[in-house]
Amino acid sequence: MGIVDNQFRTVSCEQCDKTATFSLQEFQTPDGQKRILEESPWIRGFRVANMVFDGRVYGYCSSLCEIKGIETGSHEFVEKKVIEFPTGNNLEAIKRAAAEAAAKAEGTKALKEGRPVNIQPGS
Ligand SMILES: [Zn+2]
Repeated sequence: MGIVDNQFRTVSCEQCDKTATFSLQEFQTPDGQKRILEESPWIRGFRVANMVFDGRVYGYCSSLCEIKGIETGSHEFVEKKVIEFPTGNNLEAIKRAAAEAAAKAEGTKALKEGRPVNIQPGS
């Protein structure tokens, strides 16, 4: 064997400091797997959580670390909020919304002070 190329894989836990790096060639032999497991026995229980929709991948050394990862909420899909800004000449709509907001604030204040409040259906 004149030239042997090798690839390495690093496996690490999202929640604790466990990390192991080994060659893929070593991983493919019984003796290599034995050595890797002796050095890093937690690899036997290593698992990944794949987020199918956006391709995120999380790796955990144990059930306990996996539960901690789930508890962080990082596995959940986060929908991006879209903020739409008004376009065009909508000054009247802005004035009406501001007036409605002021009326609601005044209504809340009146209720807290025990004064009567007129409730009108929205337009
Ligand atoms: Zn861990």
